[in-house]
Amino acid sequence: MRFLKANKVFNGKQWLPEGSLLVIDGQNALKEIVAENTVQKDKIEVFDGIITPGFVNAHCHLELSHLKGKIQKHTGIPGFGKHIIMQRMSGVSKEKIQESASAADEEMWKNGILAVGDISNGDDSFKTKQKSKIKYHTFIEILGLNPANESMMFDLSFPFLKLLQSLDLPGSLAPHAPYSTSLQLIERIAKFDKENNLPLSIHNQETEEETKFFFGKENDFKGLYDFLKADISWFKAPGCSSLRSYINSFNNQKVMLVHNTFSTEEDVHLAADKNCFFCFCPKANLYIENKLPDYSLFKDQVNSICLGTDSLASNDGLDLLAEANIILKHTQQFTLENALQILTYNGAVALNIENEFGTLIPGKNAGLNLVNFKNDQLSLTQKII
Ligand SMILES: [Zn+2]
Repeated sequence: MRFLKANKVFNGKQWLPEGSLLVIDGQNALKEIVAENTVQKDKIEVFDGIITPGFVNAHCHLELSHLKGKIQKHTGIPGFGKHIIMQRMSGVSKEKIQESASAADEEMWKNGILAVGDISNGDDSFKTKQKSKIKYHTFIEILGLNPANESMMFDLSFPFLKLLQSLDLPGSLAPHAPYSTSLQLIERIAKFDKENNLPLSIHNQETEEETKFFFGKENDFKGLYDFLKADISWFKAPGCSSLRSYINSFNNQKVMLVHNTFSTEEDVHLAADKNCFFCFCPKANLYIENKLPDYSLFKDQVNSICLGTDSLASNDGLDLLAEANIILKHTQQFTLENALQILTYNGAVALNIENEFGTLIPGKNAGLNLVNFKNDQLSLTQKII
């Protein structure tokens, strides 16, 4: 049995009363939280800093880890998409992809990340997830802009979800983005996830080109679709924001909108009315678009914000505190308490795993990190368990 004490303890939602002791059993699970004066002084381990539950990285793409440093910065999303496709066609071995995914998994573990929402287009990362100490919720990603291909694209991806389930790994289906997935396909995926009580994720308003595409203005996706030799002459721009065009596909279910860099106040309200989660990936936004969301638009959404690292194709590391620090540096919008909740509890709720992760739950090992907060920046001092 261990008895742990720190200057402050944050339980994922709030500060614990001063003098709270965490009692940890031999299996590294939290047994209970007791008052300091109930335990003999010499048995107590004292930590200098803030103890928090393990972090929850709500958005990652493990299977792209081998692309670290391979894609140039500031290309914008259409250019980035083209580079990803070119790299995927360049014939990297499955071994190399899996080796990089495992190294990325280890990096996240060392950085105090205990649970991850991870996008998969295939099964390259499944082996890593099976062996990992981290809890993964996998979003099997589906693309297909042409409504005529709705069934074909759904049927092509579905076996990956079945494979995941056969490996005892949790997962759900997820449309890639509104510019790459037809409204019909988004609706079908949303219906499936809703019926099975599964969380859904979609890349949302990551680029201004997406907004132009939906308003029928000239945009850079034309170059991407030309490169893919995809005829999209049939596409009729709805004349509204992308989010407005698909938000009604969701019906009282858990949805995570990833990025939201170009979301307007109206978009934020539309999504908030549907109880969507907003997942920010600031370092990837700076890498690809060199632009950050206007965080002030999200001031009333603190309970619905979570954080992701995105992939190593658009980031130099998988460090959730580094993501939080960009936001803390960029805006005074969020308090330390908000940031800690965003790093832990909110991501767990977005991934439907709040009964196991993101808070200090007796009987569970949701991880314990020791962090410090100096000059408005967070740092990980130690991963305690
Ligand atoms: Zn992503």
